[in-house]
Amino acid sequence: MDDVIIVGAGIGGLTLGLALHACGIPCRIFESTAEIRAVGVGINLLPHAAKELAALGLEPALAKVAIATTDATFFNRFGQLIYQEPLGLAAGYEHPQFSIHRGDLQMVLLEAFLARAGSDRLVTNSHCIAVEQDESGVSVVFSDGPNGTARRTVRGGVAIACDGINSALRKQFFPGEGDPRYSGVNMWRGVTRWKPILSGASMVRAGWLSHGKMVIYPIRPQGADGLQLINWVAEIETPAYRKRDWNRPGAIADFIGAFADWHFDWLDVPAFIRAADQVLEFPMVDQEPLPRWSFGRVTLLGDAAHPMVPRGSNGAGQAILDARALVAALLEHDDPVAALAAYEKQRLEATTRIVLTNRSNPPDAILREVFQRTNDRPFGRIDDVISREELVAMSEGYKRIAGYSKEALRTR
Ligand SMILES: Cc1cc2nc3c(=O)[nH]c(=O)nc-3n(C[C@H](O)[C@H](O)[C@H](O)COP(=O)(O)OP(=O)(O)OC[C@H]3O[C@@H](n4cnc5c(N)ncnc54)[C@H](O)[C@@H]3O)c2cc1C
Repeated sequence: MDDVIIVGAGIGGLTLGLALHACGIPCRIFESTAEIRAVGVGINLLPHAAKELAALGLEPALAKVAIATTDATFFNRFGQLIYQEPLGLAAGYEHPQFSIHRGDLQMVLLEAFLARAGSDRLVTNSHCIAVEQDESGVSVVFSDGPNGTARRTVRGGVAIACDGINSALRKQFFPGEGDPRYSGVNMWRGVTRWKPILSGASMVRAGWLSHGKMVIYPIRPQGADGLQLINWVAEIETPAYRKRDWNRPGAIADFIGAFADWHFDWLDVPAFIRAADQVLEFPMVDQEPLPRWSFGRVTLLGDAAHPMVPRGSNGAGQAILDARALVAALLEHDDPVAALAAYEKQRLEATTRIVLTNRSNPPDAILREVFQRTNDRPFGRIDDVISREELVAMSEGYKRIAGYSKEALRTR
């Protein structure tokens, strides 16, 4: 087959490139930016995604730079423990849950791709503008960077849009889609160098969105100074929002008030926030699920296909699962049009369910439930508020929908 043209060298695009290369399908990746830099803050790879990256031989490289997360721990805003459950290897999965700096993950994927496929297979400064197709292939039009004026056209067998939440190709196929859907929650994301919190590999969720929720987890192993790089996200219901931009700086003064009295024995939250290296602001938005992704020889993958609110640690993982499904479909079908249709059939409905569940009942619904049942007051005994069985059922329900229950992974 002619080259698969991959648009975007993010998490989905690089994973797709690696998976295609592993199967002997030639590809080239075209990335908008001039240089791929380790940007972003924390990201999670749940065991279903870790399994796919392990199959590509990347588990040792990830283990070196990431944290193998051991537990999910939920508190109310008074610092009282609501629920704790093991994660990843500690929960009996065959592969870890990795909490990792997005830049570190991208660099692991990038280095592997360059080493295996060759540096000529990745072309930077190539901002996709549009795609055309005929019976024998695709012609993808690029400019030299997002504001570049020089144009060139690249020919390939199929084109896969892995160009993220502001996908140019999604816009080409759905020009009237309109603005993202704002969830009513604004996020401030940051990283702080701090001594290990709880187990040193805990994923903490605390509080509730109406007056302030925090998600906190370490993303790099402890350094010689005894500190870890710890990712945090403050999430607060906020009426207005500014356009999404992964790199928009945020101001601590805009949200610290919500956490002013969060001085717990497991963490002094205001001091932790104030010690941040970097703070970014991002609205919690998604898009309505699309009716289709594949148009002949072109399809969408990852955030370009199914942007979701980040409440289930699933954005990167679903992009990785898309990549695996797409490669399997290309191997199975000689006709690329049939392959892209089969990929869509396998992944569109599954990811639509996750997009919708992330709006209504993601893992942090546990916090909402306790918030409502206690009228936002401290409790005496958690068992008098909600039973352990109910909490487990809420957590397991999400895992089934997102495709990482232990049974699902064993049979895949
Ligand atoms: C700069 C940046 C920072 C991020 N930070 C975080 C974070 O801190 N935490 C988190 O959970 N998620 C973050 N994400 C999003 C996260 O990577 C995705 O949600 C998820 O991993 C799915 O990956 P993806 O490959 O679909 O999209 P992405 O990983 O977003 O990759 C999209 C890629 O396409 C490139 N691109 C965009 N438009 C074009 C175009 N027209 N032509 C060619 N290339 C194009 C982008 O530069 C990027 O490399 C970030 C994304 C970006 C781009």
